[in-house]
Amino acid sequence: MTVMRRLFLGAILGLAALLPAPVTSAQSTTGGTLTIEVLDVGQGDSIFIRSPEGKTALIDAGPTRDGAVQLLRKQGVERIDLAVVSHHHSDHYGGMEQVVRGLSPRYFLATNSHHATRMYLKLLETVESEGLAIIEPNDRTRRIELGSVDLFVFPQTPEDRKDENNNSVGIRLVYGEFSMLLTGDSEARERSAWLREHPDLIERTTILKLAHHGSRNGVDARWLALTRPELAVASLGRGNDYGHPHPETVSLLKRDGIPLLRTDLFGTIVIESDGHAWKLLSPKLATRGPPRQDDLDRVAAEVEAEPTTRPRTARAR
Ligand SMILES: [Zn+2]
Repeated sequence: MTVMRRLFLGAILGLAALLPAPVTSAQSTTGGTLTIEVLDVGQGDSIFIRSPEGKTALIDAGPTRDGAVQLLRKQGVERIDLAVVSHHHSDHYGGMEQVVRGLSPRYFLATNSHHATRMYLKLLETVESEGLAIIEPNDRTRRIELGSVDLFVFPQTPEDRKDENNNSVGIRLVYGEFSMLLTGDSEARERSAWLREHPDLIERTTILKLAHHGSRNGVDARWLALTRPELAVASLGRGNDYGHPHPETVSLLKRDGIPLLRTDLFGTIVIESDGHAWKLLSPKLATRGPPRQDDLDRVAAEVEAEPTTRPRTARAR
């Protein structure tokens, strides 16, 4: 991919220190508030992160051209520091060109996987023409400092030419004692490689974003045994054509007593942490720490009884 520019490691200022670093070394927190929003973008992913210092990152931009940028604008976001495309599928990058044009990120993090549609190549051209600095995962763990929040970017596994999901960028977000695991749509092959080679990046995470929208191939018992999350979140569209979340995923989580929060039932999921405790803020459910399964079931039943107002999202993967 010729438009990809290599980022010179020493040239980074302020936002991103790309350093090999032990992931266990939690920084001393400021006591300020980290906010993570799993945006309700339908059948796709878009996750907005704001550090206590106001540094911002957007991981993926949902399936539609304007969805993510409009949601962010509505809450007064005018620019972001870092844009990430977890992998080259349009339910993750569909809105990224508008984000790059409209929210002026300084940095762009994506792999150089060969899976590239014309639409993805067009996004890369925009990234280039807007002058963003490009960061690629490589064979070492990289640390990106978002103020006092660390994003640890997993070493990239060998490219899977058949299944782009297995070329997902893996990120562990760490703020004090709080952590969240974001691994795109990674399936068993990629997750097994990480489990084998980098268990330190995976173990004991506060919140797990389910890979692949709650698909049966986005999680397994070993992954849960190592991550041991207090909460799982999944981003997906209501009435999607893939049957996400799959019943196997739901029962695996129930078996381990892990509550699951879904954007199709709860809308945008907002999580706040001071680096020690965390809370959940959603118009439908607000809790300190993990919600109770009873409450989740009650809200889910209420939502499912409502008529579907959102269009079906059949196009996205
Ligand atoms: Zn996806």
